[in-house]
Amino acid sequence: MGLPWNARPTNVPPGNGLARERAACVERRWPGGGPRWHACRVDRTGIRLAFSPHLHVFVAARLREDGAQVRTDGVSSLGHVVESLGVPLTEVGALHVGGREVPPRYVPVEGDEVRVREVTRPQPLPGPPRFLLDVHLGTLARRLRLLGVDTAYESVDIGDAALAARSAAEQRVMLSRDRGLLHRRELWAGGYVYSHRPPEQLKDVLSRFAPPLRPWTRCTACNGVLREAGKEAVRERLHGGTERSYDVYAQCADCGQVYWRGAHHERLNAIVEEAVREFGTPGQGAVADR
Ligand SMILES: [Zn+2]
Repeated sequence: MGLPWNARPTNVPPGNGLARERAACVERRWPGGGPRWHACRVDRTGIRLAFSPHLHVFVAARLREDGAQVRTDGVSSLGHVVESLGVPLTEVGALHVGGREVPPRYVPVEGDEVRVREVTRPQPLPGPPRFLLDVHLGTLARRLRLLGVDTAYESVDIGDAALAARSAAEQRVMLSRDRGLLHRRELWAGGYVYSHRPPEQLKDVLSRFAPPLRPWTRCTACNGVLREAGKEAVRERLHGGTERSYDVYAQCADCGQVYWRGAHHERLNAIVEEAVREFGTPGQGAVADR
């Protein structure tokens, strides 16, 4: 079970300014405009940390050793400490101190030995599995839609604030490779996409959130729901030899896009079959690809 999505140490104010936490903190911004970190003048509590190997991608090399020593200020919560070391809380599962599970608001004390685990899979969500993908994940968005997973996607960069607001308003899991975006408090839920490669990204998301699969039921262009359509109804939208060659049609209820089992069908069907074999059962869809 992951942390509550809106988990925030009680002593951290809203917004993305972790450095505003206390007047005692000195704000730093790395060259190049990276994430904000802060160093506290009060710096006297020594704890030892062991991050799950799955989380090593987020932390500095010295923190990948079990028992890496970290000094904290004695007042920050463990959730804040972990996040300030680079790990989005969306990726953090159970926190253990001396073998006992503690909440993110726990304030570490001298000598604590902390174990930070990754989220469990499949990860429970506070609502139906709906997703929102940022501008860099267009291929993943189309593949999720191909599988019938409700997937919103912005093909232009609307900015982190607007994405986070949409995640909250529509109760969608924000998927991104942008750690800064995943630190935002407004997110309804979030998940880091660990791979650069769409096939691995798809497996990552399906294994993590286990959304029900209903292949061939959504428009890959706009996420609208597909409905079956007769050739007559869509004739004016067909081109060239399409009308003569194919008989199975579906149409997007939202954008009007017409789909049939065309030249791309085999490639798309291979993606569908592999996903269904590994992560689910086929739904009632059974309409066509474009
Ligand atoms: Zn559509």
